[in-house]
Amino acid sequence: MSAKRKLRIGLIGTGFMGKAHVFGFASAQKVFDLPLQIELHTVADVTEAAASRAASDFGFAHATTEWRRMIDNPDIDIIDITAPNALHKEMALAAIAAGKHVYCEKPLAPLAADAREMAEAAEAAGVMTQVGFNYLCNPMIRLAKEMIEAGELGEIRGYRGLHAEDYMADATSPFTFRHDPAGGGALADIGSHALATAEMLLGPISAVMGDCVTMIGERPDGKGGLRKVTVDDVGRAFLRFANGAQGSIEGNWIATGRKMQHDFEVYGTKGALCFSQERFNELHFYTTSDLPGRRGFRRIEAAPDHPPYGRFCVAPGHQLGFNDLKAIEVAGYIAAIAGEAPEPFNFRKGLRIQTLVETIQHSSTQRQWKEIAD
Ligand code: NAD
Repeated sequence: MSAKRKLRIGLIGTGFMGKAHVFGFASAQKVFDLPLQIELHTVADVTEAAASRAASDFGFAHATTEWRRMIDNPDIDIIDITAPNALHKEMALAAIAAGKHVYCEKPLAPLAADAREMAEAAEAAGVMTQVGFNYLCNPMIRLAKEMIEAGELGEIRGYRGLHAEDYMADATSPFTFRHDPAGGGALADIGSHALATAEMLLGPISAVMGDCVTMIGERPDGKGGLRKVTVDDVGRAFLRFANGAQGSIEGNWIATGRKMQHDFEVYGTKGALCFSQERFNELHFYTTSDLPGRRGFRRIEAAPDHPPYGRFCVAPGHQLGFNDLKAIEVAGYIAAIAGEAPEPFNFRKGLRIQTLVETIQHSSTQRQWKEIAD
């Protein structure tokens, strides 16, 4: 029997991310020496069938269709929100009011004003929050940050980032919560990941010039008709960073053929880095310190030298997977709750990304550069 204090999870939503979070909780417990013991307490979904099936498949002790009742349960310590975006605020504020720690999927909320209310409520209540920007947990992206900060690329001049997939490329794919006029769209949904990575690597973005475009203006409404779509299918922005670098990002969910192109390139005076999530166990590095005639991008493969890769596998080049990033995210969050690690990517940081998204959208509408407010 473990003598560790238990941390009981209440999960809302059992879809794509609900399952990924369960993988994260299960692996984190086995792979890391967590200071607290995770217990899968209750899972909530809309229907009895979905909640019960998830409880049995995922290993939760209880299932419910009443997420509010779950939040009121004093036995539960963390409310984990993997429900659609428009529900995040209501669920998180209720959980915070009940004194729970809150782990919430991105985007934190459809609107920056809502994200601010959530961040401020969490800070006032003193609960620990985490937003699911899992790509930031990749050891190779952390290595890129380390190399940039150590000056291996010299002075950083340029950045190109994008997050492109094709799950909305088919015009007959139906209207979903991701098309909600209040905060949906490719920029918010996946461009937010590109923005989070850009700021993690280069520091604060100070100004943006956006261009957000709706390419597919209506989609099946699931009732035999069509529903108008107003959110962007592609959101792009030119960026100015506070450190003097300039660049661009793109969020694109109609990039035919692309399944997971969370990519970036960083250019400095002495070197460059290239990364693609489609081969996310590799980082490509170019340095001008190589002899002329010998220069070229070298491929660095993920290995135990890149923590916490070694926790998963002792052998280099054997590769981590998407769900492992969730395990790393969970481990950081649990350690922070126990006071053993710095604040994770919390609601305040989630607000920051939402502010960037919204400023890019305003810039696009007004066709002008916009400074980023703090
Ligand atoms: P999904 O549709 O697969 O799952 C959503 C789940 O929430 C479903 O099980 C649905 O029944 C449930 N749900 C809806 N309303 C509910 C309610 N009132 N009470 C309880 N459960 C309810 O969606 P998904 O792809 O898992 O996306 C969920 C969230 O995760 C979104 O915010 C999305 O942006 C985010 N997401 C993050 C990543 C990432 O890489 N971090 C990837 C995909 C999705």
